[in-house]
Amino acid sequence: MKIKLILKSILVIVLIAAMIPYGFSQDKNLKNIVILATGGTIAGFAESGTQAGYTSGQVGIQTMIDAVPGIKKLANITGEQIANVGSQDMSVEVWLKLANRINELLATDDVDGIVITHGTDTQEETAYFLNLVVKSDKPVVTTGSMRPSTAVSAEGPLNLYNAVAVAANPKSKGHGVMIVMNDQIHSAQAVTKTNTTSVETFKSPMQGLMGAVIYGQLEFYRTPHGLHTYESEFSVKGVKELPRVDIIYGGVDMPADLIDLSIKAGAKGIVIAGVGNGNMNAASLAASKKAAANGIVVVRSTRVPTGYVLRNAECNDDEYNTIASDELNAQKSRVLLMLCLLKDRSLDDIQKIFYTY
Ligand code: GLU
Repeated sequence: MKIKLILKSILVIVLIAAMIPYGFSQDKNLKNIVILATGGTIAGFAESGTQAGYTSGQVGIQTMIDAVPGIKKLANITGEQIANVGSQDMSVEVWLKLANRINELLATDDVDGIVITHGTDTQEETAYFLNLVVKSDKPVVTTGSMRPSTAVSAEGPLNLYNAVAVAANPKSKGHGVMIVMNDQIHSAQAVTKTNTTSVETFKSPMQGLMGAVIYGQLEFYRTPHGLHTYESEFSVKGVKELPRVDIIYGGVDMPADLIDLSIKAGAKGIVIAGVGNGNMNAASLAASKKAAANGIVVVRSTRVPTGYVLRNAECNDDEYNTIASDELNAQKSRVLLMLCLLKDRSLDDIQKIFYTY
């Protein structure tokens, strides 16, 4: 009799658990949003509210959610801690973990959108990587903050509030991965960090804002440029690591042996953050040509903050077998090239990809 009662209780508990997928406390009128936390300044901690120094990635996701008044009225929210690092320590390993978890969550009917909390240093790279490998049109938003959670006027709570509002809004569907910070919605493909300390650090210099979000009310001005998420040909399913791609910074008397050293160290691709329109000196061009002849893919990007790198403009890409990055900066060119090199592709195909994504 006692055993029957115990079994019955277990059955009831299992049934209730099955009715609360991913631990959402269900309000049927609200969307279900999962926050995946990776650390950064938004989770940073300092001894006083006015000091510049602090430690990134100290505060856990539940503490962050609890610190945002009204956030639970926007959506049914659950949080998962994927990592807790300053984003200078973001890694391909965490990228793959994030991408796989997002794809797993968004494949279910129980999850309507994802928010990722992330340091700002490499946020544009993570957002762009996810923009290329997430297989869903449901909203995926990254956010963070420039001031640690303990600072006077910490902007993290409002950024998180707005990020959840964007992820939970049906209008956000099909916009690829977005960075939401400072009341602005940026496309992962267009955005870049432009200031080391200002809260207005993210800008989309070539394309402009994708939208705005004020205390959760949002407006889109445009859709993203380039193929993304559900339209992308890239996948990291079953992928355990990405090929090494190095960035080499251009300048006066740029040392060409950096290209050879990089290849020696195992790089399969090299991105040149060149001067001007993706230029490099004659010695580096010769080293690039040699690298290309040995099957290393060399992409010409630029150290200049805005503008296109044009194929066969000042540099004859046909002669040197180099790829022009089009409008991608060096760090995003690196992400795209890492994914390109997951399979054998001709230089023509890689150039087309740089025009398309
Ligand atoms: N280095 C920190 C990080 O990227 C600071 C940038 C931030 O989060 O604002 O995590």
